[in-house]
Amino acid sequence: MSSAAQRRERILARIAHAATLARRDSSDLQLIAVSKGRSADEIEALISAGQRDFGENRVQEALEKWPALLTRHPGVRLHGIGRLQSNKVLEAVKLFTSIHSLDRRSLLDALVKEGEKAGRTPAVYVQVNIGGEEQKGGCAIGEVDMLVEAVRASPLHLAGLMAIPPVGLEPAPYFALLGKLARRHDVAGLSIGMSSDFETAVMLGATAVRIGTALFDDE
Ligand SMILES: *Cc1c(COP(=O)(O)O)cnc(C)c1O
Repeated sequence: MSSAAQRRERILARIAHAATLARRDSSDLQLIAVSKGRSADEIEALISAGQRDFGENRVQEALEKWPALLTRHPGVRLHGIGRLQSNKVLEAVKLFTSIHSLDRRSLLDALVKEGEKAGRTPAVYVQVNIGGEEQKGGCAIGEVDMLVEAVRASPLHLAGLMAIPPVGLEPAPYFALLGKLARRHDVAGLSIGMSSDFETAVMLGATAVRIGTALFDDE
């Protein structure tokens, strides 16, 4: 049995090792603990261990758990990492300091508008459907240019690009392709890497890794 705090230490060590191999500074790397489906107690245990960045997929679930946690822990940052419906945008901008799933122009317009209402300007990642998959979230590769320019012309901060490679395939070529798109558009951040592939993601330029099972579940 290991505790969440111990698992977190091991993951941070693995991130640091991958960063060293890639000649990168691991202080440039943000570990986002993905807490979907986890209880407030499990989250509190990680906060006590020093974890500050958390990610949630669904606005509804985040609304049930996070307002109380954020009041108790004002230094914690919550990231929205799941598909965002337009009718949830006002709640999303109130809860999330960054949103990793900007995939369409109309969503950007809604984020700007509701952000103004709420007095919030979340950082956004443009999510790219990097494997061109039918059911997957994210914009087409050909739309990255338009969305990046639209965010840059908006009051929101462009944090970077985000992607989830196709399940069951070697992720490295997809991470590399996203990195290439980021360089082409002069974008600094890359939100890539989950429990099964975060070291590869770090070696290929991740600036934020989103980790759930490896943090919260005992293997
Ligand atoms: C659930 C989820 C993760 C974390 O996945 P794990 O494999 O549990 O680490 C990361 N990103 C997104 C968008 C997710 O939905």
